Amino acid sequence: MNVAGGSDPEFVFELRTCRWAEREWPPTDDGGVRPAIVARQLGTERRRWDTIVVEVDPEGLRRRRRFGPRRLDSDLLDVIPHAPADWTWYRDALPDPGYPWRYVRESIHRADDRGILDVRKRDNRIQIRRKWAYPDWVERIVAVENKPDLSASAARDLAPQLEYDVALSLADEVWVATRATAESVEPALLERLPVEAGILTLDSRDGDAEVEWFPRNLDADAPGTRILERGEETEYGTTAGRFEYADPDWKRAKRLEIAERAYETGWRDYAETMRPDCRHFELGRDGRALLPWCSATDCHQTSAACSGSCPEFSPEPPQWRTRGWPIEGGPGKGIRRLLADRRERNRPE
Ligand code: SF4
Repeated sequence: MNVAGGSDPEFVFELRTCRWAEREWPPTDDGGVRPAIVARQLGTERRRWDTIVVEVDPEGLRRRRRFGPRRLDSDLLDVIPHAPADWTWYRDALPDPGYPWRYVRESIHRADDRGILDVRKRDNRIQIRRKWAYPDWVERIVAVENKPDLSASAARDLAPQLEYDVALSLADEVWVATRATAESVEPALLERLPVEAGILTLDSRDGDAEVEWFPRNLDADAPGTRILERGEETEYGTTAGRFEYADPDWKRAKRLEIAERAYETGWRDYAETMRPDCRHFELGRDGRALLPWCSATDCHQTSAACSGSCPEFSPEPPQWRTRGWPIEGGPGKGIRRLLADRRERNRPE
């Protein structure tokens, strides 16, 4: 029996990398402890990373928790970190957002509804006051690109993406994770990847990883360069590339947005884009990770295949969801709850 899309080794590898990072970060021998949150598929409009490790300050993270488990999106981040200690007219308190103030008012009311900002009206003016100071909780952001089979052609495709990351320096470190081979020299080391990118090899049997090459620290606080177009070799010479300047304020705001999204979703959010309410959906143990498994196809299904249009999709019978069988809300909801519980349990203290 086959399902459109079938098994995706990259998807499964990505989840294994996330699980490894959650247990073992950082991959150094210095015994240093760096509490971290792991997430997947986050980035910017132009560039999405497979695995993201957000290293956190534990005290800052503890104070971040007061704002609840949901992320502060970019609009809320234009308000909450600037909210004053005393009642102030919002336009005096907040920096000019660069877009109409009416949108800021909407964000203020959203923050009020979420109970994370004090809001009142005086003399027909909206005044705000912070409930708590928004903490400085993000220490470093590490991007990991997963390529289980790093063939020469995969490396050729990957190199420009890593060069983009290094030039922009939005993350503090960039890594490539690939499957360990039995070779004496890992083939990944022989490929032409930027020297600034680290290389990790992951053993698919026990889920452990080895560092083959340490990355260089990128300067995330400095201006970055966006590579918009690469120059090309032609028979008449080399064409010009196109670049754009990325200013440090944009980078700072983007990093915080990414960290906030990572905080909300973690890496087990894959169930949100799949069909755990299908009677064939299972969670299979894979070493130290729980990975989605489809009993209809006997493989790890992709999130693209595991949808309502899957030919084998078979919704849970309604009676499974009633009378508390066997877990309140039915197995689909139970799986979502189990993954959410695991995410909470694995958050750094
Ligand atoms: S779990 Fe159900 S919906 Fe998902 S791939 Fe398998 S049969 Fe299709």
